[in-house]
Amino acid sequence: MSEQNAVLDEFMQGLIRRNPGEPEFHQAVYEVAQHIIPFTMKHPKYEQNQIFQRLTEPDRIVSFRVCWEDDQGHVRTQRGYRVQHNNAIGPYKGGIRFHHSVTQGILKFLAFEQTLKNSLTGLPMGGGKGGSDFNPKGKSDREIMRFCQAFMTELSRHIGPFTDVPAGDIGVGGREISYMFGQYKRIRNEFTGVLTGKGISYGGSEIRTEATGYGVVYFMQDMLATKGQTFVGKRCLVSGSGNVAQYAVEKINELGGTVVAMSDSSGTVYDKEGITAEKLAHVKHLKEVQRARISEYLTKYPNAEFYEGKTPWHIPCDLAFPCATQNEINGEDAAHLVRNGCMGVSEGANMPSNQDAITTFQKGGLLYAPSKAANAGGVAVSGLEMTQNSMRISWSRDELNTRLRNIMSDIHSKCVQYGKEEDGNVDYLKGANIAGFVKVGEAMLAYGVV
Ligand code: NDP
Repeated sequence: MSEQNAVLDEFMQGLIRRNPGEPEFHQAVYEVAQHIIPFTMKHPKYEQNQIFQRLTEPDRIVSFRVCWEDDQGHVRTQRGYRVQHNNAIGPYKGGIRFHHSVTQGILKFLAFEQTLKNSLTGLPMGGGKGGSDFNPKGKSDREIMRFCQAFMTELSRHIGPFTDVPAGDIGVGGREISYMFGQYKRIRNEFTGVLTGKGISYGGSEIRTEATGYGVVYFMQDMLATKGQTFVGKRCLVSGSGNVAQYAVEKINELGGTVVAMSDSSGTVYDKEGITAEKLAHVKHLKEVQRARISEYLTKYPNAEFYEGKTPWHIPCDLAFPCATQNEINGEDAAHLVRNGCMGVSEGANMPSNQDAITTFQKGGLLYAPSKAANAGGVAVSGLEMTQNSMRISWSRDELNTRLRNIMSDIHSKCVQYGKEEDGNVDYLKGANIAGFVKVGEAMLAYGVV
């Protein structure tokens, strides 16, 4: 075993021992450590000051009980969390997830990733993540409101515009952010930019809703350009049908690609004629208004097919955009994609590809954009929402879209700067990990031992 591998191995063993039962956190740290440990061995100032070790320990984790009453008058109890991971370069910033699968370990992985992602955006934001094991599916609007208010009643003690600024994530969209913002305002009696993703008429930013999905596609556009290619004529798979997926599809259509699949946790819709703008509007209606299952797509478009319980990865495509959840592509799925001629993957969801899948993509010579780079557009526009709130101004849609486009290109350039190999290929994962780490690491060095 090489010295680097031995150090990596020992580091991971210690991390797993200190964080038992948190496989997603171990996975996320390993994905970064494989590049950062060799990097810090070449740059001893980071190693001597234990910068990476410190970065794998959140600043703090708040965990709390959330009690609320359902429509039948039953008292329900959920668990809420906020992981304040690292504020070396700005206030903690990261989404809130409401999903029955939420655990502290999942939020630790997301907060760790968020710190590096936020660093990549070039904006002054630290990393955090929060959420609850509350399951919003099937809940009435009033139940959602009561839960959001109960959740914020405790969370409000721990956040603030200079401390920690949460946003949306799975199960938390405009409606939930608004209920939480309303409750914060009521408790604290102050109107501040404490949450992002707000409605336009009360401090929200244009393009925030679209930003993550658009950014994922912009990043792919930049990767394709390095090969002299564009979206025109490319057949694309998009998993999920929520916020990120919807706007990834919208932008792919605009750029001349054809999306042939979308999904949700019940299965995949395959529409070989393409999910056009009109069909996408129907998906948005199904998901945002009717809160229905993706299979309902066939009621209006019966030529499409529905694969119950299946992900889209067995369908032949040129480009793939996982936009649902973590670990939705395993090694076998990745092998299908490579065999079927897929040439690029841009990750909208956080850590959607497991380690086997990443290795398969890289061995297969695909353009592979890791989530911390590809989906950073959402938090970048959240950062711009914070700026607008502080300045008490609103930028136009065009202005914000231009800023988003430039930020995605900057992130692409940083990945190339740190990830270019001797053979000229770019390891985007390595590039994103090192570029994200260096900025946070330099700030931590400057602060001394804190
Ligand atoms: P939404 O809740 O809007 O949509 C999530 C979509 O993914 C739904 O279609 C959902 O299906 C599907 N999904 C969720 N969990 C699973 C699962 N376990 N198996 C299969 N499908 C699943 O969330 P977002 O679009 O906001 O988030 C999607 C991903 O993007 C997440 O990984 C999130 O962390 C990441 N992300 C989001 C950002 C944002 O700005 N919103 C920013 C950066 C990253 P169903 O409705 O059936 O549950």
